[in-house]
Amino acid sequence: MRSPHWSLIQYRRSESDSTHLGVLFEDAVHALPASWPENAAQLLDEWRQWEAKLRNLDVHSLQTLSETELIAPLTYPRKIVCAGANYSDHVQEMGGTVPSVPSEPFFFLKPPSTTIVGTGSDILFPEGEGVKLDFEAELGVVIADRCQGIDAAHAMEHVAGYVVANDVSARGLFHRGDPMAPAFAWDWFAHKAFDGSCPIGPGIVPAWLVGEPQNLRITLAVNGQTKQDSSTSNLIAGIPELIAAASRHMTLEPGDLILTGTPAGVGMPRGEFLAPGDVISVEIEGLGRLENRVSLRNRSLAQL
Ligand code: MG
Repeated sequence: MRSPHWSLIQYRRSESDSTHLGVLFEDAVHALPASWPENAAQLLDEWRQWEAKLRNLDVHSLQTLSETELIAPLTYPRKIVCAGANYSDHVQEMGGTVPSVPSEPFFFLKPPSTTIVGTGSDILFPEGEGVKLDFEAELGVVIADRCQGIDAAHAMEHVAGYVVANDVSARGLFHRGDPMAPAFAWDWFAHKAFDGSCPIGPGIVPAWLVGEPQNLRITLAVNGQTKQDSSTSNLIAGIPELIAAASRHMTLEPGDLILTGTPAGVGMPRGEFLAPGDVISVEIEGLGRLENRVSLRNRSLAQL
């Protein structure tokens, strides 16, 4: 689905080109004036200064560019905080029970500078035996400013925008059969933190364009076959509650990314896993489409 909104993107003109900040609108890349920050991280560091300019941005007046390559729209967040077990339909398919009273969200982390890739980049199959690569369509929340200990009632004031994300997971590396103690039986590091395991894109849609982020259709297809089809209305802990909970544990900073969890339909419950050559498309209503191919190519940081 084509996004009706514009989004902040990063692009380059050639392999050797530096990163530029631009706008994606009606599937075309547009340049921002030279006086704007060079990249999304810089803009987010000065979000309050640029927010007003973004709200008044006339995207129709921007120069359209050709011969550009999209890269990830944020290189890089300082942190990627990921919520697990946060859609009622996904908890049920994984054999769990949704609590009748609100519980503390479950979080884990991904390392930003080596997991983030943009739309069109390959997801490189992790090395090792028994990886069992799986997908997770997720709504990503981009934090606007430095904050800690905030309450849910004010949490949305700290959101800069939203992005489509895929929490790629190596299921086969998750459970260790030989833990030295039960506490070490679940390997979140190998399961979730490998290179290229956090595709995001195509762009960051500013929060005010999205309106209600908890009523968006979220879908994922593998090779054109729909696997996940849900709504962000099925979130267990809502976006304000996730931001508040994360900010109780650690200071959130400009550009930090919170992945909000995935709905039902991941491959794990069916024993279906990704193979090299598979193309994964994640779409969220109004945010655009993130597409990546699984590749067996030798890993290289230059490809991230
Ligand atoms: Mg996830």
